[in-house]
Amino acid sequence: AKESGRDQYCYYDAQLEEASQSKRLIEKELVNAISNSEFRLVYQPKIDMIKGTVNGLEALIRWRSTKLGDISPDVFIPIAEQNGQITSISDFVMEEACTKLAELQSHGFKHINMAVNLSARQFKDRELVDKLRSVIKRHRLKPSHLELELTETMIMEDKERARTTLRKLQEAGLKLAIDDFGTGYSSLSYLQYFRVDKLKVDRSFVMNIPDNSNDMELTAAIIALAHKLNLQVVAEGVETEAQSGFLNDNNCDEAQGYFFCKPIESDDLIDVLLKMEKQ
Ligand code: C2E
Ligand code: CA
Ligand code: CA
Ligand code: CA
Repeated sequence: AKESGRDQYCYYDAQLEEASQSKRLIEKELVNAISNSEFRLVYQPKIDMIKGTVNGLEALIRWRSTKLGDISPDVFIPIAEQNGQITSISDFVMEEACTKLAELQSHGFKHINMAVNLSARQFKDRELVDKLRSVIKRHRLKPSHLELELTETMIMEDKERARTTLRKLQEAGLKLAIDDFGTGYSSLSYLQYFRVDKLKVDRSFVMNIPDNSNDMELTAAIIALAHKLNLQVVAEGVETEAQSGFLNDNNCDEAQGYFFCKPIESDDLIDVLLKMEKQ
């Protein structure tokens, strides 16, 4: 037993060592990723459950590293958050998403919104609101066409400051959504303290429809609660017709997931949107 205990220790030790090595490698490659144009955005549609049309898009970053290949944002965003590289990545994302939104507008897609995932550092940046105002102005966009997705963790860290930031963003005309809703905090009372426009029901709930009645009840309850508070609800990670049907039956406003559409490459976006319009 002693022996295997020590083996286990060595095993974890080796894993940790490997993890911190790949972290250092990622950090090193991130340094030149922007100047080497290794980042791009893809766009995943959000479907209006009543009309069946595309209401909005979520911009999702992709990184194809020359040295390391494709690295998931779930892996490199937390690393970039820690060492501060996220700042230039976030600037790239905002600039790119606004450029695309302006392009869509000029092609006649006047009602499509663009949602961008905000990083924790961006949310803490005292100049966030000014920076957003200026990028919106430069691209001649309507602020209400831009939606920011934030997580519960980000706003719970410093509640008072978060409340002020959220209010300023709304005063500037932007839309706000709570991402991964239901995974962070058990208390729902904060929804009355923070004013937002939308909740995104986390994929971990949607995933278990129709097999887990608990998650189905929770999802239905979240939708009902959100509507009581005058909030819109989006369900993410919808992969099956059964899930879509359940969400529709429970008056979910929007849905997003592979069942409707996978994230779309920038160059294909307009063609795909035109095809979806005709369906
Ligand atoms: P998220 O914001 O919760 O994004 C949803 C993730 O689910 C995306 O993964 C999306 O591609 C994936 N997804 C969409 N539909 C389905 C589905 O039906 N089934 C399954 N299994 N997955 C689906 P992705 O693009 O790998 O992004 C992962 C996370 O990385 C995001 O989670 C977000 O937290 C972060 N992220 C992505 N892009 C950005 C960005 O531009 N800035 C920041 N700060 N974070 C980003
Ligand atoms: Ca998101
Ligand atoms: Ca999410
Ligand atoms: Ca998620």
